[in-house]
Amino acid sequence: MAIQAVRGMKDLLPSEAPKWRFIEATAREVFGSFGFSEIRTPILERTELFARSIGEETDIVSKEMYTFEDRSGDSLTMRPEATAGVVRAFLENKLYAVPGPHKLCTIGPMFRHERPQKGRLRQFHQLDCEILDDAGPQGDAELLVMAAHLLERLGVRQVTLVLNSLGCPECRPVFKQQLQDYFAGRQGGLCEDCRRRLATNPLRVLDCKQEGCKEISQGAPLISGSWCESCGEHFDQVKRLLDQSGVTFETDPKLVRGLDYYTRTAFEFKTTQLGAQDAVGGGGRYDGLIEALGGPATPAIGFALGVERLALLLEDRPEWQQGPRLFIAALGEEPRDWAFGVAQELRRAGIWVEMTAQATSLKAQMRRANKLGASQVLILGGEELGAGIAPLKDMANGEQEDLPLDQIVDRLKAAGA
Ligand code: AMP
Repeated sequence: MAIQAVRGMKDLLPSEAPKWRFIEATAREVFGSFGFSEIRTPILERTELFARSIGEETDIVSKEMYTFEDRSGDSLTMRPEATAGVVRAFLENKLYAVPGPHKLCTIGPMFRHERPQKGRLRQFHQLDCEILDDAGPQGDAELLVMAAHLLERLGVRQVTLVLNSLGCPECRPVFKQQLQDYFAGRQGGLCEDCRRRLATNPLRVLDCKQEGCKEISQGAPLISGSWCESCGEHFDQVKRLLDQSGVTFETDPKLVRGLDYYTRTAFEFKTTQLGAQDAVGGGGRYDGLIEALGGPATPAIGFALGVERLALLLEDRPEWQQGPRLFIAALGEEPRDWAFGVAQELRRAGIWVEMTAQATSLKAQMRRANKLGASQVLILGGEELGAGIAPLKDMANGEQEDLPLDQIVDRLKAAGA
């Protein structure tokens, strides 16, 4: 059997590429207007970077990473998310030497060994934005407004922003203890993973998808009851700024994220349109992460949106499937040579021109022009070439006009590429 792609890793085919380009170009434009600069970090990082940042007890680190030993015996991992690499690059390149906030964005592939299904792949792509050295709450609101703005520009509807605050090192331990006390008497109903997590990170139990765990979590204490004054105030300010910006949201005191490094604001962009995969994007504040990775204490916040899931929510647009501006149907050797030269001149001007290299009938060439979706076809035989004038056919309405051949380049250029 012919060799196939690795499970969960998909080809992006030419028919889908324009949608992706639209998503990426719109994202770059929106991120640029909010002052984000692009950073590109390697796909491979040292495994300990992810273990120390995302958290040993998370599904990502404990089950989903593509980790291997390279030929030098170093343990390397294909990045499962972008934040850890961006933070590493921020520290390694001492970007913090310049006063913040530092607004960084990156677009690229991530890798998680999950069970593939619609909207869930093993190689997927994220649009990722981070604001480093910003304690918020304006930073939180700005990032969320930007994400909402991007979704609006893309025309992605039916997405709800869901917000929570996960507290800070002052108030979260109190909540952790409350959860441990609550779950302690109910351990029997929890899955094996959750029984283990209980000691290290009981918040993760709230995020478990197993029915038994979900049921027990229903009655668990809510983090909103444990927020310290400054966490409560921070969250109120974020909500106030979002209201003021016209960004609608819901709050969910049960929202916890799959990564350990979040503090305070955590959020997800949820949709009901993608079946089991209900998140288009998510993120949150990670005020302690940079210090934990050996850097100066630097509050930060970020989000990632999944390109595959955005693409699933986007309808195709006719302008993405546009064909060549001109097809030259040349009949005979001399017309073909002439057409070959003019085609290069038009292409230098950025105009998409096609012709056939082989001697085929007019009918076959018209069929090809149609298939490619050409806007106009120039029909050029030896006679037309001799007369210096040839019919130009508009493929949308079938109308035909005679075009002096020495005007073709100027005419097409004037009409815009
Ligand atoms: P996370 O870092 O898990 O919150 O992921 C952020 C976003 O990335 C999600 O909301 C998805 O849109 C996307 N994403 C995460 N994992 C996958 C996956 N396995 N396949 C496709 N998209 C994913």
